[in-house]
Amino acid sequence: MRTFPIFVSFDAKPPLVVGGGELAAIKTRLLLKRAPSVDISAEGLGTELAKLAEAGQVTLVAPQPGIDQVRGRPLVIAATEDDEEDTRVSAIARALGVPVNVPDRPELCTFVLPAIVDRGEVTVAIGTSAAAPVLAQRLRAWLERELHPRLDALAKLAGEYRGRVADKVPSGTPRRKFWEAVFEGAAAEAMLEGDEPKARDLIGAAIEAASEEGETQGRVILVGAGPGDPELLTVKAVRALKSADVVFYDRLVGEGALDHARREAEMIRVGKAKGAHSVPQDKINALLIERAKAGQTVVRLKGGDPFIFGRGGEELDALRAAGIAIEIVPGVTAGIAAAASLQIPLTHRDVSHTVTFVSGHDAGGNAPSFEHFDLAALASGNNTLVVYMGVTTAAVIANKLLEAGFRPELPVIGVENASRDDERRVATNIATLAARPDGLGLKSPAVLIFGEVAGLPASGAVEDILSAEEVKRAYA
Ligand code: SAH
Repeated sequence: MRTFPIFVSFDAKPPLVVGGGELAAIKTRLLLKRAPSVDISAEGLGTELAKLAEAGQVTLVAPQPGIDQVRGRPLVIAATEDDEEDTRVSAIARALGVPVNVPDRPELCTFVLPAIVDRGEVTVAIGTSAAAPVLAQRLRAWLERELHPRLDALAKLAGEYRGRVADKVPSGTPRRKFWEAVFEGAAAEAMLEGDEPKARDLIGAAIEAASEEGETQGRVILVGAGPGDPELLTVKAVRALKSADVVFYDRLVGEGALDHARREAEMIRVGKAKGAHSVPQDKINALLIERAKAGQTVVRLKGGDPFIFGRGGEELDALRAAGIAIEIVPGVTAGIAAAASLQIPLTHRDVSHTVTFVSGHDAGGNAPSFEHFDLAALASGNNTLVVYMGVTTAAVIANKLLEAGFRPELPVIGVENASRDDERRVATNIATLAARPDGLGLKSPAVLIFGEVAGLPASGAVEDILSAEEVKRAYA
């Protein structure tokens, strides 16, 4: 049976369930999710239905219903568990054009009951045209987990403001944007967290702002896409991508992340491979501002975390100066992802008490001077250094560490393409790295982890690099 989903109103007349037993009770309970009351046609009522009758939710009417009892019903469910009687009721209903369902007898049905996810005002009905009820149940379980339990309160609140928004915010794109901003933003978040006064304040303020502007201004969401494995995207990042009109993304962002963008979203790649052509930073800032001012929801998608060596700070400054609304969605930064993949903790009670993220290049693109922090203080041990963008400067960095007093045998692990299918890891020590101008043969993107923790047992394959002496010989 091919079916078309609709939502039926029970306001005019209650639905009719024929049968007083357990099956009838199950169907009645389902109808009572929305029906104020249900009429039951039966000789007598089983325990559960009797309780519902006592509570006034169920009314017992005469058994073996005829034409008059069926006519005008929004729907009828025949659940007497007596084949002959169910068939008779179904025939009457069909003759009268009243929708009828007989559990497990598709040939006697003119409608099927969906699997339902119930969030009050928000109802999701799942149908598989009766082909795969178990699949429908699985989908239902999945949606139960995905949909916030307080979605109902949010929908009610939105319903309450609908008229006011229609008065104040121009219809079409501005209004759609307005509601998208409400559902994506702090107002919805507050409501879902149970802070209704805050949600009301925010919606009220948004309405004022929108009516003053005449049209809603867009906003920029700075989103961390994580290190490459799409499963390391946050739920918030996915939600931001789904709301985007335009996505500006970096080279390091994995394909899997981009797949989450709204199908209509414009996808613009803005760089940045080292040394390769890319859009200059001020041009990117200008583009973000221009699009947001035009009312678009702009996602600025960056590899890892936007605030770890991602120039997120500069974009933030520019957007703030231009008065653009901004939201930040953090991401899993490469160093953390590398450590997780290796199953090596960056801090560890016994061997490392601090962790320092450091760039292997200075702002001008040269090897770092490390003048901005006290390398010698870190040399005493108990610290982990995670170096980003350090592949080409690895040997220079290793030499600086040796000069600062780091012990030559201190373990180092380099991780290339952390969390991606082609992840590669190599282990060595500082002295060896210092003697290897090729930076262990690692290719960008890679992070280098310096510290005692790098000597802890790692999970998975790690290539061991020759000792310093062997390297010296090899390069002699
Ligand atoms: N914001 C990013 C870092 C951008 S700087 C983050 O938080 O991860 C670019 C540097 O990040 C690369 O040179 C490399 O050192 C590191 N990087 C990014 N993705 C990586 C990955 N999948 N594996 C290893 N290193 C990575």
